[in-house]
Amino acid sequence: MVDLSVDFDKEAAMEWLRKVSPRRVLIQSPLGLRALAERLDKFVKEWGAESFISSSPTWGGCDIAVEEAKRVGAEGIIHIGHAPFLSQTELPVLYIEARYRDYKPLKDMVESVASALGNHKRVGVGFTVQWLDHLARFMNDLSAKGFAVLAGEPGGHLSHRGQILGCDYTSLKSIEPLVDCFLVVGSVFHALGAALVSEKPTLMVDPHTQRVEWMGDKAKRILASRYHMITRFQRARRVAIIVSRKPGQYLMGLAQKLKKLLNDKGMEAAIIVSDEITTENLSDFSFDAYVNTACPRLSIEDQARFSKPLLLPVEVLVALEEISWDEVLRNGLLLNMSLKSSIT
Ligand code: SF4
Repeated sequence: MVDLSVDFDKEAAMEWLRKVSPRRVLIQSPLGLRALAERLDKFVKEWGAESFISSSPTWGGCDIAVEEAKRVGAEGIIHIGHAPFLSQTELPVLYIEARYRDYKPLKDMVESVASALGNHKRVGVGFTVQWLDHLARFMNDLSAKGFAVLAGEPGGHLSHRGQILGCDYTSLKSIEPLVDCFLVVGSVFHALGAALVSEKPTLMVDPHTQRVEWMGDKAKRILASRYHMITRFQRARRVAIIVSRKPGQYLMGLAQKLKKLLNDKGMEAAIIVSDEITTENLSDFSFDAYVNTACPRLSIEDQARFSKPLLLPVEVLVALEEISWDEVLRNGLLLNMSLKSSIT
């Protein structure tokens, strides 16, 4: 069992409370970290503010419960489990990350990682925030095996050197020309994302399962299925563009531009606003296809559960023959932000 730190920096929390001086605080956390939410609830009350615990899903640092906090009159939010994602929020947010304390599960993999890397001597590493405390040690251990190991600086929605998110691989992209391959410490979810943003091979290293796996085949299957969805979308006449209410996913401006683009091509388009995008939420609509401007991973991981195409904005541009599929493959399927800016 890997030990996830569920402690928090009391001094930093105290300093945030002093600075923000909230009368009421809302505390949100993903499943698995609810015990820490309970401890923070006690801490906030002892400090002298009223505290509420949210039980709503908390998918990422993009998912800040601003509406819920405003509904209960909270003047600040404590968000547990993710690194800071947004540089500006409507209410002050204290992010409390959760980090794995023990290096051993990762250290135990150094030999098998070195053997899997083989002749890929220049390696760009990306870590999920939970493993970041061990970035420097792991880089040293791989260097000692004869590899040149690089970590990129944060950009986009990232906060730390070497960090990656399921929707943001800016740190890896910044070092792409300098490396032979990427190595992602985290899960298949995170490594697959890296394999979808670059043509460089990506090795997954999962300290939980002790698995080491190249992601090329999985990425190829996903890309083939995405192209199939693009061709289905081309036959659609009535399309709905989904906009998420979550602060870090809200892209109404992009949705409106896509709507105009679709209308200009003779397609009917509507905009649907949603908090959680599920098959149930969409099941009663009669649209031929959907565009997903929310979390891009919904279109990758959840497409199979939707009976209609759920295209990413960049895939819509391919369907409308505004850009080529080859261009997407070169730039990366999940690099929506840069392509989004090209139509904004
Ligand atoms: S947008 Fe999706 S992948 Fe990115 S942080 Fe949010 S939940 Fe995670």
